[in-house]
Amino acid sequence: MRRISIFGATGSIGQNTIDLIKRDPEAYHVVALSGGRNIAQLAEDARALKAEIAVTADPSLLPELRERLAGSGVEAAAGETALVEAAHRPADWVMSAIVGAAGLPPGLAALEQGASLALANKESMVCAGPLVMQTARAHGGAVLPVDSEHSAVFQALIGEDLSAVERVIITASGGAFRDWPLEKLATATPEQAATHPNWDMGQRITIDSASMFNKALELIETKEFFDIDPGLIEVLVHPESMIHALVGFNDGALMAHVGPPDMRHAIGFALHHPRRLALPVERLDLVKMGQFTFREACEIRWPALRLAREVMQAGGLSGAVFNAAKERALDAFIAKRIGFQQMAEVVEETLQRVSAQSGLIAARIDLDNVLAADHLARRTADEIMKISER
Ligand code: NAD
Ligand code: MG
Repeated sequence: MRRISIFGATGSIGQNTIDLIKRDPEAYHVVALSGGRNIAQLAEDARALKAEIAVTADPSLLPELRERLAGSGVEAAAGETALVEAAHRPADWVMSAIVGAAGLPPGLAALEQGASLALANKESMVCAGPLVMQTARAHGGAVLPVDSEHSAVFQALIGEDLSAVERVIITASGGAFRDWPLEKLATATPEQAATHPNWDMGQRITIDSASMFNKALELIETKEFFDIDPGLIEVLVHPESMIHALVGFNDGALMAHVGPPDMRHAIGFALHHPRRLALPVERLDLVKMGQFTFREACEIRWPALRLAREVMQAGGLSGAVFNAAKERALDAFIAKRIGFQQMAEVVEETLQRVSAQSGLIAARIDLDNVLAADHLARRTADEIMKISER
């Protein structure tokens, strides 16, 4: 039996992971499940999967979690420290599917106890890529990409020599506003941004798809994951969302990964790695689909892409600053305190102010410095948006 844990179990990726686990319950011993405020879901899954422990991120919800788990034999815990402790419990495979920089500490803890880490939480790579990879190496664990584009690149690279790679293309659907006239973007609402043409995902990543902040994070994630020169990484808009990434080699070949927009493919690939086992995803009818189309990813429409290139250039802790500023700007957009296009303005201004103010960007990439950069960037973004901290 493989021992597994799922952090962010109640979210979109977490629930897709549980869907796969439930199809073969005899194969897995579930160590820990974590969630946020959806205690009913967390408790139901913890009972059904006979988890050792269920952890909610919100300490005020611990009594409710305890009540719902009464008599089940599942331990209940709450808060950030409990999350990290649960991630330190021995497990063979850990899914990192919390949204945001909050996913970094439990992910590192899982790697420290030697687990293979299935990484959906792209923010970990953006904030602290070198630290994540170095922690995996030091403890003999692997980091397996779950983001569909990175799973696609990973699969295209199997058996290949990295020195033969000429370019890596990650695709983007273009999100909710890809066909909107530029001048209309100023009126975009969070509700409109949260509807995705092809993928069914959490609210935050769906809005990040409309602004291309998701693809911006993924550009940085590609660089960190595969140690690829930023100049070799391209973004293409591909409205059908069937080709997730392409890798170009020095003989002119392009290896494309084609699959339905169903995250259970990338999750299942990481779950069964290094084997390839059957998965319950749709088989594509290429004739019915007829064609795949591509467009340029315009950096005027999507300034987040330009900012990601600046971050890759600057290196150091600028990824942590970029991500934290983006999280605050997204919070403010969801709360209707700023407009859609202001998100990129806030992030750009935060990057400029933090880079000019402190030597932090060049500091060593360890957890303390990443958290310090994250905190400073959130404060700075809030100042820019004139939102005082609660
Ligand atoms: P989601 O919002 O559906 O779920 C997020 C999970 O994290 C929930 O369990 C929530 O309770 C928990 N959570 C939220 N804030 C937390 C905090 N501060 N501390 C602890 N737990 C917290 O998100 P999602 O769409 O499943 O995305 C999860 C991660 O996977 C993100 O990093 C996202 O970018 C990445 N990802 C998602 C998809 C997708 O298809 N949904 C695809 C690729 C990558
Ligand atoms: Mg992706």
